[in-house]
Amino acid sequence: MSDDRLIAFTQALVRCSSLPGEEGAVTALVTAEMQALGYDQVWTEENGSAIGIIRGAMPGPTLLMDAHTDTVGIAPGIPWSHDPFGAQIEQDVLYGRGVVDMKGALAAMVHGAACVDRSRLAGRVAVSASVLEECLEGAALHAVMDAIRPDFVVIGEPSNLKLVHGGRGRAEIHLETVGRPAHSSSPHLGRSAVLDMLRVIAAMERTPMPAHPILGPAVQALTEIISDPYPGISTIPSRCRATYDRRLVVGETADDILGRILADPSLSGIELNATIAEGEYRTYTGALLSGRKFLPAWILPQEHPFVNAAMRGLTSAGLAPEFDVYRFCTNAAYSAGTVGVPTIGFGPGHEGQAHVVDEHVEVSDLLAAGDGYRGIIEAVLC
Ligand SMILES: [Zn+2]
Repeated sequence: MSDDRLIAFTQALVRCSSLPGEEGAVTALVTAEMQALGYDQVWTEENGSAIGIIRGAMPGPTLLMDAHTDTVGIAPGIPWSHDPFGAQIEQDVLYGRGVVDMKGALAAMVHGAACVDRSRLAGRVAVSASVLEECLEGAALHAVMDAIRPDFVVIGEPSNLKLVHGGRGRAEIHLETVGRPAHSSSPHLGRSAVLDMLRVIAAMERTPMPAHPILGPAVQALTEIISDPYPGISTIPSRCRATYDRRLVVGETADDILGRILADPSLSGIELNATIAEGEYRTYTGALLSGRKFLPAWILPQEHPFVNAAMRGLTSAGLAPEFDVYRFCTNAAYSAGTVGVPTIGFGPGHEGQAHVVDEHVEVSDLLAAGDGYRGIIEAVLC
């Protein structure tokens, strides 16, 4: 693997802005690099995710490595010490939007897979550069997996070069109370949906959260309240909607969570709807990606053969990783949580660097990640 070329490719990806729904230019860079590196097959599927295949000399399973190409934006008015699209390197540190989440991992996967010795490979490696993860985790990977049918998946979200074998899931819960409008000079003639919602929120806030021995406790946060009509001019509000962001642990289902809210005896008499939010986003290719915002938590036991093989591969690449889990939601919530394909996470950089000002990665970690991906492929498929 050429270190210089991997660094230069990472810089090229960072210099190419790629907000969700605007990943076309960065995807073209990825497919061009895969072709230049001699991938056996390279294409862009209908949602705009790039896929490259490397075939081994012998038949065997398919290992998919996935990194998303979209990044979050730049918060206005908060200066960076380095241009977020400059990809400057200073004292072994590469700065730029998306370098940790997750263009560094993408570049390391593309290059790490390319330098595997095909003559020793039983099976094939697929690398996907998927779109729109920041809006709707799992949706683009779903289409990639339908095309590839992988037996194993590696997600490159930042793990600080640790071996991730689980992650919390995420649900977006919409609550709606329905009251009766009235003139606010005679509130007793109506029913305030906002006052009802206050009781619902009080019940939500005292709900005990389940905990998992490795993933830790589930967490929920109230992120939004909207009353209707708004602005409310001398009117008792007849509708109120609140949104909760819920971080899930293994075993929690949408039916359980919604059912518990709706069955709460302290809320009897309130007209309450509780649903999981739906997301719908247009890709840069014009396709529609939609899905329910319920992504399950996942865990793969440390003694699982895939985890063992990955650990062996990382060790032979000169890394000595600890085990870890993702506290945020990733595409693995689809691959592992929804369809149960054995999945691990491994990526350069710290998760605390995602979405922040002065996002950066150590160049030495980027190069180590490339070796690590290659090590995982060789341990699983050679
Ligand atoms: Zn990410």
